[in-house]
Amino acid sequence: MSLAILGDEPVFSHPLHVGCPNIGDRSRLIARINAALDRRWLTNGGPLVEEFEAAVAEVAGVSECVVTSNGTAALELAIRALGMSGQVIVPSFTFSATVHALTWQRITPVFADIDPVTLNVDPADVECLMTPDVKGIIGVHLWGRGCDVESLSAIANQHQIPLLLDAAHAFGCTYQRRPVGSFGDAEIFSFHGTKFINSFEGGAVVTNNRSLAERLRLMRNFGFGGYDDVVHLGTNGKMNEAEAAMGLTNLESMSEFVDRNRANHELYSKLIESNPGLQVLSYTPAENQNYQYVVVDVQPEVCGLSRDQLVEVLFSENVLARRYFYPGVHRMSAFRGLTPPRPLPVTESFCERLFQLPTGMSIDAATVRSVCDIIRKAIDRAPEIVKHLQTSSPD
Ligand SMILES: *Cc1c(COP(=O)(O)O)cnc(C)c1O
Repeated sequence: MSLAILGDEPVFSHPLHVGCPNIGDRSRLIARINAALDRRWLTNGGPLVEEFEAAVAEVAGVSECVVTSNGTAALELAIRALGMSGQVIVPSFTFSATVHALTWQRITPVFADIDPVTLNVDPADVECLMTPDVKGIIGVHLWGRGCDVESLSAIANQHQIPLLLDAAHAFGCTYQRRPVGSFGDAEIFSFHGTKFINSFEGGAVVTNNRSLAERLRLMRNFGFGGYDDVVHLGTNGKMNEAEAAMGLTNLESMSEFVDRNRANHELYSKLIESNPGLQVLSYTPAENQNYQYVVVDVQPEVCGLSRDQLVEVLFSENVLARRYFYPGVHRMSAFRGLTPPRPLPVTESFCERLFQLPTGMSIDAATVRSVCDIIRKAIDRAPEIVKHLQTSSPD
């Protein structure tokens, strides 16, 4: 940890993390877990998992919900159940799990660029990448802002390949006033501790396709068709009762989480945008949003500091801002060279400009003000800070 840059001591004595968990009513969580212990029913489709599946399906506006051990498992199961193989088109501007779920199954990711306005996968680029080897498309609703599912569905239908949507960020959101969850052939959620609604770890595949859901249920539980027979290729992708208890408890506080996130997002936007060259990514007020992400776009030529310099100042004051999604999945060592290199200019430009700030139930208005104060001081003293970072930098 570098020393405080703005003063003698860091502004915050403890680190503020991006993705600090939202936690609902503890007594209700403990009561649910106690009931599971009394039943001695800890996993394998217990009543809490069933209740959580019904609740998730309702929020997502779908008939089928298959909860899983995590969001990555949900992706892997859905990719396999949808029969994706060969090559699959996916945006590079996403969390690496979207791509891991493909390469883990020896499917080659074909990276598409993003739209400079929505930052979601650009359907025109997807169209350019279509070849007979492409056997699927994955779209991502980045930060809960719905991707262009209409255009993606049209392309998928025309080529008769499945469309899967990674909605890990978009639980509780709508796109064109329709709940996220019901688009494409299936969508997946993550209930990881850092997500808007968490079940410690967890995920779900949601769909309106009953036979797909039945296949997913088999695959999630070793393909067991009865006590003795395995009737389908499978794995262990189950969620347990304690996780479902957490998910159900947090769902009960969903509107409280949204209110806090929205208030934080509004205050951050107002204070940060009073600086030249800084903008906070906005959410469409016409849609339901979870406001779980505060993403700042830095124009260094206007504000005098690069994104990395600003993040370095924040780190030194114990605000652990994150450069999501730097450097772009296509430039990470495990995924480089899988396909012939192809420039992704929009992705690469936003990878250098954006960072995320902490929000959620652990962050109140006073904390937001202090974080924004650090940013304002850094911008005010930009030339001095640039010089300081140059002389103190180890390389
Ligand atoms: C978090 C996340 C995942 C993976 O979810 P886990 O529950 O952590 O496995 C997948 N895609 C995106 C976009 C994510 O942010």
